[in-house]
Amino acid sequence: MTKNSLSSLRRQLSEKLEEIQRLLKPAFDSAPLLPGVITTSRHRCGNSGCACEREGKLHESVRMLLRFKDGYATRCLSKEGLEFFSPRIEAYRRLRRARRDLGKWYKQVVELIDSLERERRSVEGLSEEDRKRPLR
Ligand SMILES: [Zn+2]
Repeated sequence: MTKNSLSSLRRQLSEKLEEIQRLLKPAFDSAPLLPGVITTSRHRCGNSGCACEREGKLHESVRMLLRFKDGYATRCLSKEGLEFFSPRIEAYRRLRRARRDLGKWYKQVVELIDSLERERRSVEGLSEEDRKRPLR
C-alpha cells in the first residue's frame, strides 16, 4: 500500500463528489423543456431579381426539429417562436447532457473505487500458502 497514491485517489474521489453536484444541477431545474433541436438554414429563393441571387444575401430560415414518439417533425419558427421555444429546447439539451455525463462520471468513480480497493488490499495475517494465492 502506498500512502501517496491512496491520498491521491481519495482526492480524486472528493473531486468527483463536487463534480456530481455541478453535474446534477439541470435535474433540479424546473423550467419547462421540449425535446428538439433548433436549426438555421440559408437558401436562395429562385427569383432572379432577388437580393439572394444578385448580392448573395441568402434567405435564412429558423426551424425546430421536434422529437415525437412516432417520429420527427420540423416546424418553422418566427422570431417570437424562437424566443419562446429556444429556452425550452436548451433546458432539454442541458438535462440530456447531464444524463449522458452521469454515465461517464459513474464509470470514472467505479474505476477510482477499484483502484482504492487495490491499494487497500492486504494479505497480512494470512498463512504463507494463502499469501501466494492471488486474491480475487
Ligand atoms: Zn431570394
